[in-house]
Amino acid sequence: MTDLIIVGAGAAGLSASLFASRYGIKHLIFGMEPGGQLNNAQMIENYLGFPEITGENLKNKFVKQVESYGVGIDTRKVVGIKAKNNGFQITTEKGGAESKAILLAMGAKHRSLNVPGEEALIGHGISYSPIADAMDYRGKTVALVGGGDSACTGAIALAEYAQKVYLIVRKDSFRAEKQWLDKVLATDNIEILYKTLVTQVKGENWVENITLSNGKELAIEGLFITIGQVPAVEVVSEIGVALNNNGYIIIRPDCTTNVPGVFAAGDLTQPEGGFVFRQIITSAGQGALAVASIFQYLHQRRPEPNWS
Ligand code: NDP
Repeated sequence: MTDLIIVGAGAAGLSASLFASRYGIKHLIFGMEPGGQLNNAQMIENYLGFPEITGENLKNKFVKQVESYGVGIDTRKVVGIKAKNNGFQITTEKGGAESKAILLAMGAKHRSLNVPGEEALIGHGISYSPIADAMDYRGKTVALVGGGDSACTGAIALAEYAQKVYLIVRKDSFRAEKQWLDKVLATDNIEILYKTLVTQVKGENWVENITLSNGKELAIEGLFITIGQVPAVEVVSEIGVALNNNGYIIIRPDCTTNVPGVFAAGDLTQPEGGFVFRQIITSAGQGALAVASIFQYLHQRRPEPNWS
């Protein structure tokens, strides 16, 4: 049995692995897509020490630093976590492992519009990753839904390749960082449609048009959906970790959950009664904090030596 299993290899999980290595905590780290949401980030301008760095480059730096301690990221999918032998057992699609403590750092996955036509056209003109897919839409007319940082950074990336980008925002304002919004407003081929929702997506084998809440139809060749995330907590049901009404794992300031030995960090958490700010830097910080807490847990858990 190892000391710790980290489930998730995004900013929180990778940072936790680095700190675990430095604290001498034997651990395994699982993550199907090392880097997590960094894989969808184009230019990052708010990670201290790196005024401008691509998501890909920052991910590579994170992974390299983690691996420099001899830790390999296991890319098998974790399909279950349960209590076993005074510790925990995780199962993957092929095999499993046991540990004294668990850190849940699976992050979040994209939210869907849930409108008719969406599901059938995913991968056929509908994408949740504008930054990764922008190059495929050179010279085309596309639409992107959302009003946060993902929407603005996605629209900026798309506008470099697409001929026209409709940015569809449900309110009359954005909630994105001013830096990004200013860039959006200064980009000629982005047209913002405020107070508008997408109500239907149509297309035979590829997206052809969308219906808007004002009844109009818009002919497009690609639809990008960046309307926030939902926490990726499917595998935690069996261990009884408490979730809030929106499905986020409730944590205390020390990253403990309601289940002794189970800790959580990063985008899938909601601090008890606290403020949340989901950024790469806060996830990385939370991963480090969680490990300090896990270190204490493992030491308290160790049986006292028997001198008699
Ligand atoms: P957010 O949750 O911040 O924003 C989601 C946006 O989608 C909001 O504008 C919301 O509208 C809108 N929305 C939600 N549901 C619907 C719907 N059904 N139909 C239409 N619009 C909808 O998500 P993001 O992915 O943008 O960002 C997530 C986190 O990641 C944030 O903390 C963000 O700061 C961070 N991030 C930071 C980046 C950076 O470079 N600093 C880049 C990308 C993400 P409303 O405002 O009306 O609720």
